[in-house]
Amino acid sequence: MAEQCDVLIVGGGPVGGALAALLARGTSTDRAPLSVVVLEPRRLPALAPGAPIDLRVAAFSRASERVLRAAGAWDAIAAQRISPYERMRVWHESVTPTSPQVLVFDAAEAHEPNLGYIIELRLVQNELLNAAERAGARIMSAEFATLSIGEEHVHVETSAGAIHAKLVVGADGAQSAVRAAVGLTVELMSYGQTAIVANVATERPHEKTAWQRFLRTGTLAFLPLSDGTSSIVWSADDDVAKPLLDASPEAFGLELRKASDSALGDTRLVSERAAFPLRRLAAHRYVAHRCALVGDAAHVVHPLAGQGVNLGVLDAAALAELLLAARREREDLGALRVLRQYERWRKSETQVMATAIDTFDRVLAHGTGPLSRLAQRGLGWVNRSEELKRLFIRRALGTAGELPAVARMRANA
Ligand SMILES: Cc1cc2nc3c(=O)[nH]c(=O)nc-3n(C[C@H](O)[C@H](O)[C@H](O)COP(=O)(O)OP(=O)(O)OC[C@H]3O[C@@H](n4cnc5c(N)ncnc54)[C@H](O)[C@@H]3O)c2cc1C
Repeated sequence: MAEQCDVLIVGGGPVGGALAALLARGTSTDRAPLSVVVLEPRRLPALAPGAPIDLRVAAFSRASERVLRAAGAWDAIAAQRISPYERMRVWHESVTPTSPQVLVFDAAEAHEPNLGYIIELRLVQNELLNAAERAGARIMSAEFATLSIGEEHVHVETSAGAIHAKLVVGADGAQSAVRAAVGLTVELMSYGQTAIVANVATERPHEKTAWQRFLRTGTLAFLPLSDGTSSIVWSADDDVAKPLLDASPEAFGLELRKASDSALGDTRLVSERAAFPLRRLAAHRYVAHRCALVGDAAHVVHPLAGQGVNLGVLDAAALAELLLAARREREDLGALRVLRQYERWRKSETQVMATAIDTFDRVLAHGTGPLSRLAQRGLGWVNRSEELKRLFIRRALGTAGELPAVARMRANA
């Protein structure tokens, strides 16, 4: 006999985990939770408090913080090693790191305690799956194999047996097997860049600041970590990245200092280097009858704006909101009518963000024409416009655009 559930989520990463917890908890005004099963074959154990900080970290926005709170995971995450950042300094290589042309965003200017948090992805994933389990979701250590979609339900074969669900959600990342099985197609484009990720010690303190320098060959970011070190994401053209990955740790440290124009002084690797080939992916459709895609399964963006997981968390919140409303109205959770609302909502929000990110990459990081030179030198102009600054800060906080209800809820609301 196949196991039955309302929603089967394939992939318990940060996005699948958020969706599972939100659906299993229901909403605060009307607790009508759904029965949820999550397939996650690679659930990693929590890191010991003294263990080195994991290489995979991400900047989580205020909007994501609110969703993680509604999912019942935030208090446990915040009690561990997270790093709030209070400022961003962004500049182009044509000016020095101390020039008035450096664009500076300060949380205090927006009357906010911080602009967001740098958190290990593994910590977020773990606590979301714990919260989902506490709320009654079942997390299975199993892999998705195949599916067949019927009128009344979707039949899914997994490495641990069959499951019948009203809806299957592909939260299984950029290589989504669910997306392939359903036949949802994608537009894929290589940026010709590789992101080098590592943790580094710096001579000068990071001052709870995210530092970002646009180079003619890519983008270099230093994200502040809770132990005083920084996580670097160096998105470099492939021909620049290769020798950097092959260089000795000492030679890499010197190149990093050069590429950052010594903004934080000497730099020294305190971890391995990991490399991620950068691609843009956009699914043509996010939904089909009894199927929806969320997070990287639906869209992958360039990491320069630190938005990938934040977009995915908002997908999860939007889909959860619509599914819980459908349940209250006794509608079929897998009906295209319900799922298309989700697609319209999130596809347009994601496209706006993906286009903005690509413009930054083309104009600020790689551009050489007169328009690019104007934009590169003109970053500092934004400092002089309160209105423009507020707009950028709202984007960084993730509080712009059409947000799901849980992403609008303030902590003490
Ligand atoms: C260098 C770099 C830096 C980044 N920095 C940031 C940042 O600062 N801020 C930000 O917002 N985003 C950032 N991102 C993007 C972010 O990492 C991703 O958007 C995010 O991890 C996507 O989450 P997800 O849950 O959709 O997918 P994933 O994290 O890929 O999770 C998918 C899950 O599905 C599971 N799975 C896969 N296949 C199957 C299967 N067949 N059956 C069952 N389960 C399966 C996997 O085990 C995995 O747990 C960065 C990305 C890169 C490359």
